[in-house]
Amino acid sequence: MSKERIIILGAGLAGLSAAWHLQKIGRDCRIFEKEKQVGGLCRSKNIGGFSFDYSGHLLHFKSRYAFNVVKALLGTNMIERQRSAWVYSDGRYIPYPFQANLYRMSDQQKSECLSGLIDASNKNIRVDKKQDKNFLNWIIRAFGKGIAKNFLIPYNAKFWTVAPRQMTCGWLDGFIPVPTISEMIEGAMEDNKSKFGYNARFWYLKKGGIVCLPNALAGGIKNIHTGCAVEKIDLKNKEIIFSDGRKEKFDYLISTIPLPELSHILKEMPESLAVQFRKLAWNSIFNLNLGLNNNQDLKQHWAYFSQKDISFFRVGYYHNFSSWLAPRKMGSLYIEVAYSKYKPINRKSLTRRIKNDLRRVGILNGRKVIVEHINDIKYGYPIYDRNYDTVRKDILSFLKKNRVIACGRYGSWRYLSMEDVILQGRVVAEELSACLKKE
Ligand SMILES: Cc1cc2nc3c(=O)[nH]c(=O)nc-3n(C[C@H](O)[C@H](O)[C@H](O)COP(=O)(O)OP(=O)(O)OC[C@H]3O[C@@H](n4cnc5c(N)ncnc54)[C@H](O)[C@@H]3O)c2cc1C
Repeated sequence: MSKERIIILGAGLAGLSAAWHLQKIGRDCRIFEKEKQVGGLCRSKNIGGFSFDYSGHLLHFKSRYAFNVVKALLGTNMIERQRSAWVYSDGRYIPYPFQANLYRMSDQQKSECLSGLIDASNKNIRVDKKQDKNFLNWIIRAFGKGIAKNFLIPYNAKFWTVAPRQMTCGWLDGFIPVPTISEMIEGAMEDNKSKFGYNARFWYLKKGGIVCLPNALAGGIKNIHTGCAVEKIDLKNKEIIFSDGRKEKFDYLISTIPLPELSHILKEMPESLAVQFRKLAWNSIFNLNLGLNNNQDLKQHWAYFSQKDISFFRVGYYHNFSSWLAPRKMGSLYIEVAYSKYKPINRKSLTRRIKNDLRRVGILNGRKVIVEHINDIKYGYPIYDRNYDTVRKDILSFLKKNRVIACGRYGSWRYLSMEDVILQGRVVAEELSACLKKE
């Protein structure tokens, strides 16, 4: 076993994966987690017979390795589902992705979208992330002005809480499906049979919420200490200090603590870096979970809403992921509202407003809400604005120089999925181990 003192901060999936991989290759490490339970955003709550996650948490895999790790952990407790996702547009639900299913739209919207698409295709180069200085240019180049106006611009402005022209394309990486021009034209004439996007199928638990995944991972890890909030990190003396005054020395620290929080925890840093920390931008997610007295006609997995006068951007149907998540014949929903310093919310009236909007879009009609639960998720998605690249690079290289390795969605400040952070934990563990061998 290794002698170096490796400490991991945070027992979400990223921290757990880093520890699991380190211990697998024979390196000792200890994890400190501020909450009483492991899992971070991948936790679940049981309330009145319903199981709610921190809004929808579905597993998608690009990597065979990640799939095999998850499969080994969950065994037969996994179900594969073919996505049933919808976009609410012009008073009706059309299949997702919008850009590949124009046939369901009104004639006026369809002709606007098609003429924009033809115009974009005449300009020849459709998608080039390097050429596009901002996300807005990318949308218009890839899909034309009609699809941009009718869905992609309003949806993304609502979701990110900033205008697409203020964002870069650094996060795209397959998150928005880009069908070919002929696939989009086909989709304007008839039901598009092709499935597009990274989430065309997904996996979930047969029994239990998403917390089963971090729990299974934690089961194979030694030295997890929960209920230990780190209050200060002394980089000079290589020491972490907990809220109860206890101290621990480290040689290397792997931090999955959200960067904006870390800035308050670091004992000293140059003012120039403090300035960079203050430029970090993110959106937050107000997640209302509802248990309903019936699930009749609620057959979808999730739906998107781009309209300004509808409070939420997405509604998902937990009970269709797994029947275990709601009592028999009952329904359960997650509703997501994005907010930030750029676009604040009024928490007092929001739940009432959400319920009214759910009635307007035909989801709540004739049903009773029997359980209500809120997760206010402070760090939702890092915003890839024009400062993003430089700010992140400056912060991460300062941390690295001080033997703090940034890991995780909020620890390394990237739009990462559960699969991504599992893989990132592996990379961090292997790189650290290789570096220790050299020392
Ligand atoms: C609304 C929403 C929906 C999502 N849906 C999906 C999905 O469908 N599919 C998917 O693959 N991914 C999804 N994700 C992404 C997924 O949740 C993340 O990629 C993953 O959970 C990140 O894990 P992490 O360990 O990096 O961060 P976290 O889960 O945030 O873990 C960080 C841990 O650090 C701990 N911590 C913080 N401060 C301290 C401190 N001072 N001392 C000690 N510990 C501390 C926290 O308590 C936490 O446990 C979604 C994310 C959001 C916000």
